[in-house]
Amino acid sequence: MARYIFITGGVVSSLGKGLASAALGALLQARGYSVRLRKLDPYLNVDPGTMSPFEHGEVFVTDDGAETDLDLGHYERFTGVAARATDSVSSGRVYSTVLEKERRGDYLGKTIQVIPHVTNEIKDFLSIGDDEVDFMLCEIGGTVGDIEGLPFFEAIRQFSQDRPRGECIFMHLTLLPFIKASGELKTKPTQHSVKELRSIGIAPDILVCRSEGPIPVKEREKLALFCNVRPDSVIAAQDLKSIYEAPLAYHREGLDQAVLDAFGIHPAPKPNLTRWDDVADRIYNPEGEVKVAIVGKYTQLEDAYKSIAEALTHGGMANRVRVRIEWVDAEIFDKAEDVGPSLEGYHAILVPGGFGERGTEGKIKAAQYAREHKVPYLGICLGMQMAVIEAARNVAGLDAAGSEEFDHEAGKKRFEPVVYHLKEWVQGNHKVSRQVGDDKGGTMRLGAYNATLTEGTKVAAIYGTTQIDERHRHRYEVDVKYRDQLEQAGLVFSGMSPDGSLPEIIEWPDHPWFIGVQFHPELKSKPFDPHPLFKDFVRAAKEVSRLV
Ligand code: GLN
Repeated sequence: MARYIFITGGVVSSLGKGLASAALGALLQARGYSVRLRKLDPYLNVDPGTMSPFEHGEVFVTDDGAETDLDLGHYERFTGVAARATDSVSSGRVYSTVLEKERRGDYLGKTIQVIPHVTNEIKDFLSIGDDEVDFMLCEIGGTVGDIEGLPFFEAIRQFSQDRPRGECIFMHLTLLPFIKASGELKTKPTQHSVKELRSIGIAPDILVCRSEGPIPVKEREKLALFCNVRPDSVIAAQDLKSIYEAPLAYHREGLDQAVLDAFGIHPAPKPNLTRWDDVADRIYNPEGEVKVAIVGKYTQLEDAYKSIAEALTHGGMANRVRVRIEWVDAEIFDKAEDVGPSLEGYHAILVPGGFGERGTEGKIKAAQYAREHKVPYLGICLGMQMAVIEAARNVAGLDAAGSEEFDHEAGKKRFEPVVYHLKEWVQGNHKVSRQVGDDKGGTMRLGAYNATLTEGTKVAAIYGTTQIDERHRHRYEVDVKYRDQLEQAGLVFSGMSPDGSLPEIIEWPDHPWFIGVQFHPELKSKPFDPHPLFKDFVRAAKEVSRLV
């Protein structure tokens, strides 16, 4: 049975709980343990799939097709352990399961209550796969004291009682504000937060305190005394220049040692941190810089493209360059005659995924600019679809080319639906079908699907294989019936679904680097194992940077 580490937050949100959890996972791995990380989110949405990227940041998709919180992305990037649908749950999901069971009569006429029915459901979720790993790290979203979070806090309290003594610990993340006028680091908000936690029956074993600078001994002792933790279990989490230094920084602060001590594991196995030393060396000692434009719609909130930004950073690490990302709002291009002045000077252009019509004409123009000016271009999902529409309109002569996603008038005018609404496809060995007007949640082509690459193409060389599997999240698809026409115009369909019906990758062979992919390669990239497409994309950008 796994040992459990529950990670909660207090004082304010956005303290980097996800990152702390991920870094701790990496440190436990460095000591030879196996880990799995989980996220429990108090909001009432069933999953983040239908939440606006402006509000909630990116939706992270797992191999098994779940739409989850972006923290699962951090978990994967730091531990390399592929997240599963069962690693993410929300209040909405818990309540909907409980209500389904109630309707089915599973509770045999009992009155359904938060305790025990909702808390039992949460505990069942926590227990899934507990015989597979040494440590299960479970992060509770939000901050202690939130109304929606209470059932989760109650459930983890009960869970720690159900398990043998010493098998569960609690780690609480707070903020130590620095008051400039008095030059003091204040511990009171943390004391209050711990008081709140203890009032619901949870006593933290470890305190992780976000602060601008180091925690002086006096404050550390005060925190230990008032919050009832050991002084060496007060861990400082200082701001870092790169998140990828977090495992090393937490190790220096003694987090992993404090965790093993709290479990009574003696002697603790020695850590091997070479992976993270190498990562830090690459991130902090680049030999150059490349400038990449991301032409997207959700550019005001960088979290909306979190995994893409991280994957580019990984690509930079592989090539020992810093990748400077500049966010370009595609909507501004929608009406622009000439996008040249806005796109000049970049060493590469990336058009990410997205939904809805706004900004799509701008993305098409960005693809055209990249093709004509031989600038490396990576189109992801919608970014591939727009590149195909651009090719259809401007090279293959299909000037009415468009996507069914935007063209509501499609039936009424001359229209070439180069990108169409996919309603039926094969997953494993069964057929999936969808209708217009279906529920919005969880109804896209989601999760890992295989693709077959054509021998001799750029992507086959980049991947070093012709069989790949990548994660998907989309409703629309490039229509294979335009393949011949587009290939005659020079665009190569270099990756297809195994049955040949769904285009997965396109490329321009006479271009230094122009690739569009229907899937999301960014979701599988790791700092210690950069995704081949991002690695090679940044290499191509580096080449351009040397020429200019
Ligand atoms: N909106 C497009 C579709 O549903 C692209 C989705 C995406 O970029 N993830 O097919």
